[in-house]
Amino acid sequence: MLIDHVSNFSIQTRFLIPAHIGVLYYSYYMACTADPGIITANNHQSYMDHYKYDNLLYEPKECTTCKRLKPARSKHCSMCHACVGRSDHHCAWINRCVGVNNHRYFFFFLYSLIQLCVYGTYLCFEVYRGFIVEWGLENATVFDHKAKTQRPITFRQAMVHVMHQDRIIGSLGILATVVAVVVSLFLVYQLYLAGRGMTTNEAFKWEIVEEDIDRGVFYLVEEPVKTNPPKRKDVHTQTPPKERRIKSFSELENIYDLGFVTNIKNVLIPPTFGKP
Ligand SMILES: [Zn+2]
Ligand SMILES: [Zn+2]
Repeated sequence: MLIDHVSNFSIQTRFLIPAHIGVLYYSYYMACTADPGIITANNHQSYMDHYKYDNLLYEPKECTTCKRLKPARSKHCSMCHACVGRSDHHCAWINRCVGVNNHRYFFFFLYSLIQLCVYGTYLCFEVYRGFIVEWGLENATVFDHKAKTQRPITFRQAMVHVMHQDRIIGSLGILATVVAVVVSLFLVYQLYLAGRGMTTNEAFKWEIVEEDIDRGVFYLVEEPVKTNPPKRKDVHTQTPPKERRIKSFSELENIYDLGFVTNIKNVLIPPTFGKP
């Protein structure tokens, strides 16, 4: 029965199905295999030169595992066994980190997954619509218990009837819809962060900073030389001579935010740092 309906789809549709699947597999393969931005002795200096410390989220600090200074915006991943440049997060889907070099493939993968799920939802809907026509449900009537008369079946009732008869297609359609919605929300969040010059890792760091400001325990050391960003100091450490309590989040600046367009461009076309 399903094959009859699918065979009625146009040649274009039959071409689009394998094309969508092919693009999804390709994007997934790229996201899974591309170097996320592993920092090694070969490219360490390139990362150090490109990403400056803001002395707010990132200060010069040695990675205890790699025994090298952690470049700003990098993070050591215990699952990837390496420091990763502009680390976003370690992704279980692709079994590796999402970093400076494979973030674009990760976006591509999310987009193609959404596209396939939306298309899958549409196909399931079309198959059900085909069932409604084939089974003559368009002209069917149902008994209205209130009015005590027969009345034409509504489209929603016809769809529910078809769903009861063929639950596999309905289940696939619901699954595709749920995945499309969830992944779309995730993609929007990722784009929002990328547009603000922020990684997921940094978003968590900013949240901690904001909480410290709300608790009134966030201080910055005001440096005499203006070219150096002020250093962060915890309230519990020894109080330096010139220390300013930050009262509002707006007093802080994200030096990695270069404007929405440039931020997105830097994610889609990342700088080259040399091979690991
Ligand atoms: Zn490390
Ligand atoms: Zn990782």
